[in-house]
Amino acid sequence: MHRFILSGSLALLVLLSVSQNTNNPGEATSKNDDNNIDEYVAEDFEEKNFIQICCTWGIDLQDGKLTYKIDDLDSSKEQQDAVRNAIEEWDLAIDPLDLGRVSSKAQSDISVEFRDGSEETVDGEEIAGRTVTTFDQYGFLDDATVTVYKEPYGYKFDTSAIEQVVKHEMGHALGLGHANFDGNLMAKRVNDGTEDISECEIKAVIEANYWKLGDSNHDNTYPYYPADNSVICESE
Ligand SMILES: [Zn+2]
Repeated sequence: MHRFILSGSLALLVLLSVSQNTNNPGEATSKNDDNNIDEYVAEDFEEKNFIQICCTWGIDLQDGKLTYKIDDLDSSKEQQDAVRNAIEEWDLAIDPLDLGRVSSKAQSDISVEFRDGSEETVDGEEIAGRTVTTFDQYGFLDDATVTVYKEPYGYKFDTSAIEQVVKHEMGHALGLGHANFDGNLMAKRVNDGTEDISECEIKAVIEANYWKLGDSNHDNTYPYYPADNSVICESE
C-alpha cells in the first residue's frame, strides 16, 4: 500500500525531519540586501535543483566503515528487514562506503529506533522519521540516531513506507540536508518524495564525506569539510 502514502488522497502530510537543520543557502545570502550581485546569485541558485549538504563524518569513517544497529524490542521482523533493506541499498549505492550491521546491544555509529504513534510539529504536521546527529569537538559527525514513527496520523506504516522513511533518514545520517525540489528522496515531505536513491543523493553523500569517499581519497586519514554546502542535481 505504498501508493497510499504517496498519493496523499487523504491530504496526508507527513514530515521527515532532521534535528540539525542547516541554513537555507538562499536565506543566508539574502541577508545582503544592499548587494545586488549577491541577490542575483541567490535568485539564480534558487532556480536550480539542489540537495543541501549538512554534515561530514569524522574519524569513525576512517576505515570507510560505519556500523549500524536496529532496535529489536519495539519492532517486528518485517519492520527490521525493511530497515536493513533500506540501509543495504545505500551500502550498495556507494562503493567506498561500508555499512555494517552489529547486534542491537553493541556500540554503533548509527542507531535505528522505532516509536509508536507520532509527534506533531508546530505546524500541525506529523513526523514520520527523525534523525538526531551528534558531533565531535571538531564539528564532525560521530553519532546518528534515526527514529521511525510507526503510525503517523494513526495509519500504520507498511514495510515499503518504512523503507522509504529509513532511506530518507539515512540520507541525513550520512550528511545530507533536504532537497529544494519534489520527486526526490530528500524532499522534506514523504508525499512529495520518492523511494529511489538517485545519482544526486549518491553524489551529495560522497561530496559531504569527500575526505574519505572522494575518488582517490580512500587512503586518507584525516577528515576535512566539503567545499560546498549543497550539490546541484542535473535536470532530467
Ligand atoms: Zn528530512
